[in-house]
Amino acid sequence: MRRLFALVLCFCMACPVYARAEKYVALTFDDGPSGRFTRTLLQGLEQRGVKATFLLCGYRLEQYPREGQQIFQAGHEIGLHGYSHASMADMDRKTLEREIREDLALLPQGCSPVFLRPPGGKWSDTLLSVAREQGLGILSWSVDPRDWACEDADQICQAVVRTAQDGDVILLHDMSDSSVEAALAIVDELKAQGFTFVTATQLARLKGVTIEPGEVYTRFS
Ligand SMILES: [Zn+2]
Repeated sequence: MRRLFALVLCFCMACPVYARAEKYVALTFDDGPSGRFTRTLLQGLEQRGVKATFLLCGYRLEQYPREGQQIFQAGHEIGLHGYSHASMADMDRKTLEREIREDLALLPQGCSPVFLRPPGGKWSDTLLSVAREQGLGILSWSVDPRDWACEDADQICQAVVRTAQDGDVILLHDMSDSSVEAALAIVDELKAQGFTFVTATQLARLKGVTIEPGEVYTRFS
């Protein structure tokens, strides 16, 4: 019996799948859809079996309705990022309601978003109140490699890989070749480290967090 126990223990220690705890992160992409960048990103995520969360702008959905549909059909989570991408921090209630309503109207049919991410990650009490009324949680982030300010995919990737922890929400943009390349490299490197990629709502569920309208979420743990 003791020998059997020792054997099982050796097996567990030798096999990293059994030895390590599960680690989950959510990739989130702002500012899309973006034509060919979105198409390349969707292809790369599908090849890797990864589902992500896309925070979409209304004016981009007008430009790229087909890519918006493709995001939805591929089974990714879709959230709101406002119609115009103007900062929501100083908007009055009426303008906020219009930004949300017009963004919602352009989302693929059947899409019922759980999250709103205000542009720039800035919000006011008025926005929290409107989000509460509209049944939307506010999705912020916990890892920001500032990909919009950097064209070096490897640098963006390493900034995330160095800091990512279980429960993190990673901010990226569906806007450039370097961001898309970095996103796919992040998936490859973190998967090799034992991370599993899930959508933001899946991450919340896995961590036992119930999304409350008008509440702000930066990570789930
Ligand atoms: Zn944005």
